[in-house]
This record gives sequence, structure tokens and C-alpha cells, in this order.
Amino acid sequence: MPRFAPILLFLLFALRAFGAGEWTLLKYENRDYVTLANIGAFYQLGPVLRTGNQVQLRTAVRSLRGEVGSAEFYLNNLKFILSYPVVDIGCKPSISRMDLTKLLEPVLRPSRIQNSATVDTIILDPGHGGGDSGATCLFGNEKTFALDVALRARDMLRAAKFRVYMTRSTDRFVPLEERAAIASRFPNALFISIHFNSSGNGATGVETYTLAPRGVPSMATDGPSLSDLVPCTGNARDAENIALACATHATLVCNSAMFDRGIKRARFVVLRDSAIPGVLIEGGFLSNPNDARRIANVLYRQQMAGSILQAVQNYCNAVGPRQALPVASAATPPPGATGPTVITSQSAAR
Ligand SMILES: [Zn+2]
Repeated sequence: MPRFAPILLFLLFALRAFGAGEWTLLKYENRDYVTLANIGAFYQLGPVLRTGNQVQLRTAVRSLRGEVGSAEFYLNNLKFILSYPVVDIGCKPSISRMDLTKLLEPVLRPSRIQNSATVDTIILDPGHGGGDSGATCLFGNEKTFALDVALRARDMLRAAKFRVYMTRSTDRFVPLEERAAIASRFPNALFISIHFNSSGNGATGVETYTLAPRGVPSMATDGPSLSDLVPCTGNARDAENIALACATHATLVCNSAMFDRGIKRARFVVLRDSAIPGVLIEGGFLSNPNDARRIANVLYRQQMAGSILQAVQNYCNAVGPRQALPVASAATPPPGATGPTVITSQSAAR
């Protein structure tokens, strides 16, 4: 297990009680940004430490780290892919308001996520099935490995008193829309889709997808599209989505010590059309010989199942108990909104 593992697992719990001050928005290329200095002051993370383009905020128990010009951003050493890169605005490193409201705030203060359901049910979605084998390698198919992980996770979750439904529990094909429809039937549930990756370029590691907020380009496509502006059912769960992605990716990376490819955004049908918080796990590359050997090992798949259980438990602990407190940065502007604004926290230092 990597040295930073304990910090990762507690990431979602880190900042329950903090948050003070005001937000000052800066305009850059017609998009709203906040400085890292503003973030450091609000969340009591200290001053911005900068070396060249490397920037960070750090206290004894938590850290935010990034690089000007890059969308890779690390919270307690766990990699997130921002919707927009860190930029310098008048020599002040800044991140987009979208990333503040849709990523940092729900991850740093999950207990303030509003209207989140008390979770009693988990929907497990093993990818592919039937005539759709998914990715393949010498040792087997993605559909088989994904189902095996899901069945193991099902047993662990049931032992932990969760109700579990599976979009498929045998080797059969289920259309993507039907998977999302199954998930949407359960109001107090989380949706976890299990996949393995493939690539022609030797890529390695684990990555976790959750739904792209409205207006944000999908990271699974080549760039911005008009469809990015179409409201999706799943966007009602933006805050819970990223909190669940954080909990899931943290346990996967920690427990496996696989290369961390980050938490990414996409509009996969099963995430887009699901009415409950959801994530899609890519548990390694079957196209990479080292990853494939691990995935083919039953111990790795058992470990993945255990990580799913641990993630669900961490998520439930982090978002509860319910609080009727306003979220400081809840006033998310519509995409393309203009004009400088100051959001004043109504919840300073509670
Ligand atoms: Zn797949």
C-alpha cells in the first residue's frame, strides 16, 4: 500500500467544519475563475506555495496541488482531472468556478451536499455481456471479469446489510438505456458500473468516471460539443456524483496501488440517464500485459470488490448525517454567464 494511503481514505472527511469568507470571481476567456489564494483563505488551507508553475495549498493533514496550464489536480495526492486547466490571472493561479462548485466544494465538504438520499441500496452494473465481450486479453474477456467483481461485491455489500440489485447477474446483454432505467427505479441508491479498459498505446492504471456537469466537455470525446449544453437526468446529482467518485477512486487506488489515472468526466449513457449518484470504474487495462495479469488474478478482483464496499461505506459516512445548511458556493451560474459577481458565504466557520 502506498505511503499516502491513510490520507487518501480520509479525504472526504477532511473539511467538515471549515469554510469562511467571501468568493471573488475573476473573468478569464469569458469564464469565471477563483484564485487559489481565495480557496486557501476560504477553506483555511494557508497561503499558496509556488515553484515555477507548480502550485499548492497545504496543511499538516491535507493538500491541494496542481500546475498552471494543466488540468491534473491532486487532493491529498488523489488525482482529479479538472474541467478546465489551472490558469494564471495577473500572476495569480486560479481554477474555474465550475471546478470550485462541482468538484472542490462537494469533495472537501461532503456533509453539506444538499438533498442527498440516505443510501440503503446499491445497483451494481457489470459492463457488457452476452454477445458484447468488451475488451479482451489472453486470459479472458472484460464482460467475465466485470461480472466476477460485481458478484463478489454483491456478496460483501449484502453482508454489510445493503440491498443489492444487479443490472445483469449472468452472461447476457443488457442495453445501456435499460441499465440506467433499472438504476432510476431506486431512489435511495448508488449506481456503480464496473469495466476494464483497452488501449493501443500501452496505457496502464485505474480511472473512475462520473457525469460531466452541464456545459463541460466530456473527457471521452475529442472536444466541446453542442450536446454538452443539453441537461442530463444525472446532472441533478452532480455533487453526489463527484463525492462518490472520490470515495470510489480513493479506495481503488489505495488498495491496489495501481497507477492513478484520475477521476474523469464523461456522458456515458449509464451515467447520463441515471437518476441516482453514479460512477463508472475502469479497473485496469486488459491491453496492458501487467494490468491484464493482475485482473486475471482472483485476488485482484476480490480486492476490487472490497474497495467497492469500502467506498460505499466511506461515501455514506461522508455525506451523512443530513444537514439543512446552505452550501456556500451553491449559486452555480449557467454556462456562459457573464459579469463579475461576489458570492458571500452564508455559512462561515460553522
Ligand atoms: Zn467496458
